[in-house]
Amino acid sequence: QKAVNGLHHGAPTSPQPHFVLVPFLAQGHIIPIVDLAHVLVDHGAFVTFVTTPLNASRIRHYIERARDLQLSIRFVTLPINCAEVGLPEGSENLDALTAGLKQFKEFLEACLQLQDPLISYLKEHGPPPNCVISDIFHPWTGDVARTFGVPRFSFMGFSAFSHLCRHIMDSKNIYDKVTDDHQPVSLPGFPHPLEIPKTQSPWNFPIPDGRVRNMIIDEEPKVHGVIVNSFEEMEPVYVECFDKAIQKKVWTLGPMGLYNRNTKKPNTRGDKASMDIERCMNWLDGMQDQSVIYVSFGSIARIMPLQLIEIGLGLEASKKPFIWVVKSRPHNSEFEQWLIEERFEERTKDRGLLIQGWAPQTAILSHNAIGGFMTHCGWNSVIESISSGVPMITWPHFAEQFLNEILVVDILKIGVRIGVTSSVTWGSEKRDEVMVKRDDVERKILELINEEGEGMKKRDKARELGTMAKKAMEEGGSSYQNIKLLIQEIQQQIPVV
Ligand code: UDP
Repeated sequence: QKAVNGLHHGAPTSPQPHFVLVPFLAQGHIIPIVDLAHVLVDHGAFVTFVTTPLNASRIRHYIERARDLQLSIRFVTLPINCAEVGLPEGSENLDALTAGLKQFKEFLEACLQLQDPLISYLKEHGPPPNCVISDIFHPWTGDVARTFGVPRFSFMGFSAFSHLCRHIMDSKNIYDKVTDDHQPVSLPGFPHPLEIPKTQSPWNFPIPDGRVRNMIIDEEPKVHGVIVNSFEEMEPVYVECFDKAIQKKVWTLGPMGLYNRNTKKPNTRGDKASMDIERCMNWLDGMQDQSVIYVSFGSIARIMPLQLIEIGLGLEASKKPFIWVVKSRPHNSEFEQWLIEERFEERTKDRGLLIQGWAPQTAILSHNAIGGFMTHCGWNSVIESISSGVPMITWPHFAEQFLNEILVVDILKIGVRIGVTSSVTWGSEKRDEVMVKRDDVERKILELINEEGEGMKKRDKARELGTMAKKAMEEGGSSYQNIKLLIQEIQQQIPVV
């Protein structure tokens, strides 16, 4: 069904529910919510997608595409005043915070500014909202939902496994009396024995004390349900236990990135890609099936120059083809100089592709030539890898990434650990620290991209999961049904006029 200015042509048989989506201002949160917006409109809903001007300019291609195809998505941009909270101009996305966690509190405060303008906007521009889906980092959206008397669902980009871990860690205060961050602590009530040290828990990326944290704690139990970008068949036990633990419905609606799997032309997600998709695809076309290792660490992790050099040397030593994504950041000059002086790209030109900046990740992952993904285990990267049936080398940095590693390696058995055991403090990375040596990079690549043995088993298992993921999103699949059910549930609450 198409729409012009948000209004559908013809008379829909049942009322068209209006979802207001408010993602947190970070690529790892915006991208899946853009996917969710498309999933919802595909199923007949109308969506208002809320963001800020700078973030809107970064997802301009989605906005233009939605306009060209006359999709029922309305993108609303509301400004935030960074100076008011003491942040530099333009700090509208997590990846713009040069001091990392030290600016997190101010950043969360800045987001509070969106509340009143959003309420005014929604009052002035119909149709009235029927549901708010928003990030837990936007606790102020609870008030928005209450203003319009509609339910709020939370989304925070975690798997059900990580959600359940976090819920137990927080509700049972398991780290309260622990003085050693590296001491494994057991999670009481988890469906099987599990011990996690604080450094590997989401507490390594703490929500700073203060007003917003109190609001988050206050608002989380009030949500109507939790949206998860995962699928039931992959982690049924954790979905069920999390559901029971919070006594709310846990809606697995993913992998949401698969909504556009039928489009012939692979497209980029999030920022504009720094390298043409065609160039990447052509390059991959020249490689053997499942032979290439893709290396990328998401949108905010900062890899220091000596570590980058070590990765480069490990990749080279493995003699396997690779695509390596390195973010262009101010601290990278030493690495860039090394690239030139050592003629790294020239040395590896027959089998290496270096992307400096933003990569068209999902397009790359879905190419047959990709045999493995060295990832920081951000949930989007993990679920994208699973969607494409690609096994992983796990290298978590912070937040819930170590939990995702456990799911990938120990539970789903589709990955190998690179071997890091402590988190990095985002924004306080040690310049000269090398956490992983080149030999380990080489060894793990050879272990995963291997024609026989464990590597092969992991690859088969990953492929099986990839097929299951696609089925979940197809008509009749579990996530497909859940999307229908969610829409129906909201439709039933719309007053008949
Ligand atoms: N991404 C991308 N190109 C890049 C880096 C990241 O398309 O060069 C996308 C990636 O596909 C994923 C998101 O950005 O959808 C990153 O989310 P993730 O949860 O993996 O990590 P985060 O950035 O939140 O740490």
